[in-house]
Amino acid sequence: AKRQLGNGIAFFDDGLHQDAIRGYEIERHLQSAIEGKEFFLEYQPKVCLQSGEIKGVEALLRWRSDVLGLVSPAQFIPLAEANGSIVEIGRWVMFEACAQLKRWQQRYPGFFLSVNISMVQVQRDDLLALVDDAIAISGIEPGWLELELTETAVMASPEEYITMLKALKSRGLRLALDDFGVAYSSLAYLARLPVDTLKVDKSFVDRCLESRPDRLIIRTIVQLAANLGMVTVAEGVETEEQRKVLEAEGVDRYQGYLFSRPVAASKIEALLDKSLQV
Ligand code: C2E
Ligand code: CA
Ligand code: CA
Ligand code: CA
Repeated sequence: AKRQLGNGIAFFDDGLHQDAIRGYEIERHLQSAIEGKEFFLEYQPKVCLQSGEIKGVEALLRWRSDVLGLVSPAQFIPLAEANGSIVEIGRWVMFEACAQLKRWQQRYPGFFLSVNISMVQVQRDDLLALVDDAIAISGIEPGWLELELTETAVMASPEEYITMLKALKSRGLRLALDDFGVAYSSLAYLARLPVDTLKVDKSFVDRCLESRPDRLIIRTIVQLAANLGMVTVAEGVETEEQRKVLEAEGVDRYQGYLFSRPVAASKIEALLDKSLQV
């Protein structure tokens, strides 16, 4: 249905119109979400494919708005990136995640935590200061903190980011390339980037049983990572059949609903305590 608004903008699709309204509502309520304590973190285990042990977790941001209810990060993060509020939200995530990591480091030595970092944050000079503050205030051992950056964004202009990535590495933390395999990375740049982990994109995991090319891409990423001294993590693993393929291909770790959805910190502790007993 074509609709004419007062300002002359025509909407040809009610669905699109609804999306625009929803986007506007999300942006409006995002402003007060931090002060309103509407954000919280969930954690998804990263599991060793060989041993089945939980090696660490990825922190994933959740927003329960008083007005809008639970809003998915896939919806609000792009809007927060567009209007710049991701910087403040990203600060909150970093401090919250590091405080949690500190508690876990005392109880579970060798346990690591990954935090998603928006490229909007990487493009700002104050990311280093944020990382330094979060490490100092939380008192964590930085070697057990990993930052996840998307391959697509980093590879869009690797020359621009390499200095920042090296500065981050000099703090002793780890760097991961998220959604790896979809961005046609330049191998020359990949070899020069101070990256520790490649996260095999979920799309390859989804198709690895039916599609030989997708399975071969996973195999190639594993070889590449091994040659460059990097660790591989497969994301979005939902079935035991997929897990077996990933194990056979030599992927180091996996994440996905098969093992656990992202859950509250207390649930992670219950899982770890259970696995320490056996
Ligand atoms: P991502 O970093 O690629 O995170 C993986 C997403 O896949 C998460 O969605 C996770 O809940 C979901 N997932 C995990 N296992 C499975 C599975 O087996 N099947 C399926 N279908 N999905 C699975 P989520 O939590 O909705 O986050 C979506 C995206 O939002 C993330 O993608 C990341 O790009 C962004 N995001 C989340 N938290 C943060 C954050 O704190 N900061 C920033 N900058 N971005 C974040
Ligand atoms: Ca959510
Ligand atoms: Ca991620
Ligand atoms: Ca990902």
